Amino acid sequence: MSGLLIVTGGSRGIGAATALLAAERGWDVCVNYHRDRDAAEGVVAACRQRGASADAVRADVRVEADVVALFDTAVQRLGPLRGLVNNAGIVAPKASVADIDAERLRRVFEVDVVGAFLCAREAARRMGEGGAVVNVSSRAAVLGSPGEYVDYAAAKAAVDTLTIGLAKEVAGSGIRVNAVRPGLIETDIHASGGEPDRVRRLAPTVPMGRGGTAEEVAEAILWLLSPAASYVTGSFVDVSGGR
Ligand code: NAP
Repeated sequence: MSGLLIVTGGSRGIGAATALLAAERGWDVCVNYHRDRDAAEGVVAACRQRGASADAVRADVRVEADVVALFDTAVQRLGPLRGLVNNAGIVAPKASVADIDAERLRRVFEVDVVGAFLCAREAARRMGEGGAVVNVSSRAAVLGSPGEYVDYAAAKAAVDTLTIGLAKEVAGSGIRVNAVRPGLIETDIHASGGEPDRVRRLAPTVPMGRGGTAEEVAEAILWLLSPAASYVTGSFVDVSGGR
C-alpha cells in the first residue's frame, strides 16, 4: 500500500507499533502526538529507516483547530491522504459509575469520542480518491468494564457506532471505515489509568491466558487498511485472545 497514513497518538503503544508496521508495508506516515515530541520523533526516525517518508505533527485531538492543522500539515508535507488510524485515546483511573463526576466524563469523552469524530471528519473530507479509516475501539465497548471504567467503555461504544454510520455514509466515495477492538494489550495506558500491572492481573481471565502486544493489534489494523480487505467496511476485528 502507498500514500499518506495519519496515525493519531502515534508516539507510543499501539499507535507507534502501527506507524512502524505501516512504514514497512509501504505507507508514508504522519505520526501525531500530543505531549511527547521526543517519542514521536523516535518513531519517525524508525519509519524513515524502513524506507518511508515520515513526519511528526503535534495536535491535541480534542481541539478542532489542531485537528484541521494536523491534516493540512500532513497533506502539505507528505501528499494526498489515503489512510487514517484513529488511535489516540485515554482512560481515567479505576472507579465505579457511582463515583464518576462530570469533569472526568468530559475529559474521557473529549479525547475518545470528540477527537475520534473530528479526525474521522477530516479524513472523510479529504479522501477524494478513496481511502481507509481504522478506528481503534476496545473490547470494553462490548464488555462494559464494570468497576473499572464504564465511561471509557461507553466512549468506545460511540466509536463503534461512528464506525458503522460513517462506513455507510462514505462507502459510495470509495472510503472504507472499520475498527479494531483490542483486549488487554501491554502498553503504558494501564499505568496512566493508575494500574501498571493490570494486564498481568487480568491475564488469567483471557481464554488465551495472556495479554496481547501492540504489534499484534497493528497487524489487524494494517490488514484493514490494505487492499486485501477491499470488501470489508463497517466491520470489527477483535484482537483480544478470545476475551
Ligand atoms: P498509550 O500507550 O497510552 O498511548 C496513547 C497515545 O495517545 C499516545 O501517543 C498519546 O500521545 C496519545 N494521546 C493521548 N491524548 C491525546 C490527545 N488529546 N491528542 C492527541 N494524542 C493523544 O495507549 P495505547 O494502549 O497504545 O492505546 C491506543 C488506543 O488503543 C487507545 O484508543 C486505547 O483506548 C485503545 N485500546 C488500548 C488497549 C490496551 O489494553 N492498551 C485496549 C483496548 C483499546 P502523547 O504520548 O504525546 O501524550
